[in-house]
Amino acid sequence: MPRRRWLILTGALVALGVAMVWVGVAQAPLGSTGPEFNGARAYADVVTQMAFGPRPTGSVAQTELIDWLMQSLRAAGWEARVQTLEIEGQTVRNVIAERGRGPEWVLLGAHYDTRLVADMDPDLSRRTEPVPGANDGASGVAVLLELARVLPTDLDKRVSLVFFDAEDNGRIPGWDWILGSRAFVAALTEYPDAVVIVDMVGDADLQLYYERNSDPVLSQEIWAVAARLGYTQFIAEPKHSILDDHTPFLLAGIPAVDIIDFDYPYWHTTADTLDKVSAESLEAVGATVLAWLLGE
Ligand SMILES: [Zn+2]
Repeated sequence: MPRRRWLILTGALVALGVAMVWVGVAQAPLGSTGPEFNGARAYADVVTQMAFGPRPTGSVAQTELIDWLMQSLRAAGWEARVQTLEIEGQTVRNVIAERGRGPEWVLLGAHYDTRLVADMDPDLSRRTEPVPGANDGASGVAVLLELARVLPTDLDKRVSLVFFDAEDNGRIPGWDWILGSRAFVAALTEYPDAVVIVDMVGDADLQLYYERNSDPVLSQEIWAVAARLGYTQFIAEPKHSILDDHTPFLLAGIPAVDIIDFDYPYWHTTADTLDKVSAESLEAVGATVLAWLLGE
């Protein structure tokens, strides 16, 4: 073949080789010997939850969700149970899964209920409708559930996954915020060493700042892991101050952190739907929590 064409072909092959090496490097997970968090599988868990419809405390959809959660946790090899408690005239049901043993006890939590009413909806006529809860509810559950699948069975620490009920009905007559986690902490006979809450972590446009009430040491540890893994969604600066499921733990003196993106335009509206959530965001959070938990 003419020399010029040969050169072009050689150049193309070199470029292809470089591209393949680059893709190979980019796709190789850091510390690739360990388990990997799968964002696509977590996203599928958001899809499943949304198929139940809105899932406020006491609803039929919520009971269906609990059944599915219990089945999924047990299929992943976890001991799981439903904890039923009474608080402020309401019955709440937390789902608790546990694995591992060792001197350290880490609790990962997320609320699985969705808000009874979309009272922040820009359309006033829709403010009595329930919140669909793709991000505010389903995203945190999805991260915990995928962690349940990928966490090793031979953990050298005790890990609890707690799915909290009745987080999201504050400012509604007869309700308050964070009922499930408050009842949970009140019922504790021993305290975990560290608590990590994930809430509203599925936003496709994800920015996670330090939550101001969270334990600073835990926050810095987790954000540093995210930076090392290259997840720019974690921004190591304080921003919002939020009442969430980490609050009852903090009030009991337990180190706790809330991983939350509170800059979500669809918060407590009927537009908190599947199209606002991405697998990439779920994976950034899940992979970070996983690496932190395994001390990678
Ligand atoms: Zn909410």
